[in-house]
Amino acid sequence: MGQQTNNDLIGNLIDNLCKLPSIGKKSAQRLAYFLLNHDEQKVENLANAILNARKNIKKCTICYNYAEEEFCPICLSASQGLRQTELICVIEKPSDILLLEKFGGYRGVYHVLGGTLSPLDGIGPANLTINSLISRLHSLDSPELVFALNTNTDGEATVMYLINKIKSLPVKISRLARGMPIGSDLQYIDEITMQKALENRVLL
Ligand SMILES: [Zn+2]
Repeated sequence: MGQQTNNDLIGNLIDNLCKLPSIGKKSAQRLAYFLLNHDEQKVENLANAILNARKNIKKCTICYNYAEEEFCPICLSASQGLRQTELICVIEKPSDILLLEKFGGYRGVYHVLGGTLSPLDGIGPANLTINSLISRLHSLDSPELVFALNTNTDGEATVMYLINKIKSLPVKISRLARGMPIGSDLQYIDEITMQKALENRVLL
């Protein structure tokens, strides 16, 4: 093992930045050189902001959205009667909530599955928050589920699995309608399309 040189430190920084989504080698180099030339206090603030968020943000005990307390702000406002607790939009990951909330038209709540069923990647029902979704449905009077998963094979398989799993429960089931192209990823859908898709959700 050779002595670590300054170049190794820069290389290590670049390698770590490269692991972030949508950061390629060139962007990682640009960011690394930017940070090296940046005010030290500001770099420390950035590093602390990342660490503090990572260490202190947990999952909402109802919907699995990110939360600083036991409940996320959306479940909190639902508990105050400001959103419909019976209308649950099923999504894959917490960041999908940002996309759906962007236009402000949705008044229901969410359930973050934590992924989609993907046998090839070893993700089965037990890896997702399916059991707590079912408990939630049991606790509501006349729940409605809106599926807003990506329309790829894994997303479709997950919807089918869930529909089958809850078929004995009195749950109204719908999914995002028009405007969701087959094989599309939620994050590439614009606001208008998303709004239309939610408004025109189709009963299953
Ligand atoms: Zn929540």
